[in-house]
Amino acid sequence: MKSAGKSRRPKARDYRNLYLNTPVMMHSIDGDGRLLAVSNYWLEVLDYPREEVIGRKLTDFFTVKSRDLAEETVLPHFFEIGSVKDIPYQMVRKDGETLDVLISAKSVRDEHGQILYSMAAIVDITERKKAEQEVQHLAHYDPLTGQPNRLLLQERLQHALIRAQRDDNRVGVLFVDLDHFKWVNDTLGHATGDELLKKVARKMQDCVRHGDTVARLGGDEFVIILYGFSSDDELTHFAQRFLETLARPVSLDGIEVLNSASIGIAVYPLDGRDVETLLRNADAAMYSAKEHGRNNYQFYSSELNQRMLARLGMETRLRRALKNREIYLEYQPQLDLRTRRISGFEALVRWRDPDLGVIHPVDFIRVAEDCGLIYPLGEWVLLTACLQAKAWQDQGFPGMRMAVNVSSTQFRRHDFIDMVEEKLRISGLAPEDLEIELTESLVMENLQQGLERLTDLKVRRIKLAIDDFGTGYSSLQYLKHFPFDRIKIAQEFIQNIPDKAEDVAIVEAVLAIAGNLNLEVLAEGVETHRQFDYLYASRCTEIQGYYFARPQTADQMTAFLRGHCTQVDDRPPAGDLTADTDGA
Ligand code: C2E
Ligand code: MG
Ligand code: MG
Repeated sequence: MKSAGKSRRPKARDYRNLYLNTPVMMHSIDGDGRLLAVSNYWLEVLDYPREEVIGRKLTDFFTVKSRDLAEETVLPHFFEIGSVKDIPYQMVRKDGETLDVLISAKSVRDEHGQILYSMAAIVDITERKKAEQEVQHLAHYDPLTGQPNRLLLQERLQHALIRAQRDDNRVGVLFVDLDHFKWVNDTLGHATGDELLKKVARKMQDCVRHGDTVARLGGDEFVIILYGFSSDDELTHFAQRFLETLARPVSLDGIEVLNSASIGIAVYPLDGRDVETLLRNADAAMYSAKEHGRNNYQFYSSELNQRMLARLGMETRLRRALKNREIYLEYQPQLDLRTRRISGFEALVRWRDPDLGVIHPVDFIRVAEDCGLIYPLGEWVLLTACLQAKAWQDQGFPGMRMAVNVSSTQFRRHDFIDMVEEKLRISGLAPEDLEIELTESLVMENLQQGLERLTDLKVRRIKLAIDDFGTGYSSLQYLKHFPFDRIKIAQEFIQNIPDKAEDVAIVEAVLAIAGNLNLEVLAEGVETHRQFDYLYASRCTEIQGYYFARPQTADQMTAFLRGHCTQVDDRPPAGDLTADTDGA
């Protein structure tokens, strides 16, 4: 310390000033733990006047928990040890607010070893603690909904499993995925989507008991952990109640939005004994709920498990089948009722498995789509069908279309158009002799992209047919926006004509609108003479079905074409209908 330019040794009074005025919390206690002195800053931070402090026990200014720690553990040994460092305590301000602090202290003795007092310095770490807690919170909670995130979910599930194992209890893991969240996000905007997620999270939290966890994994995926229930029924009730709560509309920006979710349920210990397995199986069950038409819940039962395993076996076999040429095509002719000639074929894929025999597409297309085998399979089908069509044309059966079914995963792939063009080039088939069959749901799923892709095909003169019409969602209204050439009325509507009035009405409506829009109509699955007569009289343009011909292999079909090469008279019956065989 300097004074008038000259230094002097500090006196006792200076030290006392230093003690009192340094901006550090300091205190001294006697052997009974009573406060002998405190710094001004100490009083300032805890907001007490000096007279309310001196002579009181230090621990009077501690929280209960810290008081116990001090009186039971630290103070009894402090004067013996002589010093302590960074003991974490919580102190209480006069207004009741708590302060996180670290206290370091040293004891001072006289020359006879008698305890005189302590000297302690306090560091206020309240802000640091808060920041730490915030970081902890950020690491464990989803910022949007305030619910636990994936990390905390895993920790909580882990704890729940340990507890359940000890108490011989069960734990339910519910994987929840909102059904049409993407629609809300895309049409009402992301801010509204966020709002919806918050509301849904609150609804979920309201449905569970205290102590159960509702975590958000991200996007529109949530996981609920339910601890210790007595029966599956309890879980079922919970899932039901939850779907009902969700179904009550919420108002977003003044718009009432209805909600639903698909829920997959896995149960400890039945469906898994560790966190990862349970989450994975609940997720798989959720997918099964989606397959069941959404807005429902599914248990990950062993049955589900078995189905997945069967599917896995199917996948391996299908991979082998593609390599081993167990896949082949059958062709079913389509008959033009106006000319009574064969106007085209539909290529239908088959699989001859060495053990299982012939497998039909309904039993493996889905698997092929799920595991991506649909791409090589679809390419093979397209090329083979194009080559066959070209071969028949070269044999003198010209002008016949080849229709090929394309599944949505194939159609949506970015290089679909290039792939089709390549097959046309390799086979030499004219684009107008190829027809792509698409189901209506495929187009309706993503209208904009669907329309662009259809137009791309259309400008290349490739023909387009909408398959299984009537079974999807599209209304006839939509048809005029899409560049289709042909509607194929689904077999289920043809089956019961002319007896079932509703089906007759549907067929007639389709025929009328198609007439207006200049679309051709092909009736699928025609099996009987009565169906045939009715369609003929109704001016349906084409038919396909067992009545005229079943799907057949290429060789069988070549023989069939050779045998039906004469033009018949104008009676409509089947059996003796013809292929156009200029020069054959
Ligand atoms: P689809 O395109 O509607 O094909 C018509 C289905 O009806 C074929 O079944 C055909 O054999 C059957 N069928 C034809 N006439 C009659 C009839 O008079 N009565 C009855 N009861 N059935 C008849 P298939 O071959 O089992 O094919 C089923 C579905 O599998 C097809 O329905 C198509 O959606 C799909 N599919 C077939 N081949 C392929 C392919 O190469 N790729 C893709 N992605 N899907 C294919
Ligand atoms: Mg088809
Ligand atoms: Mg069809």
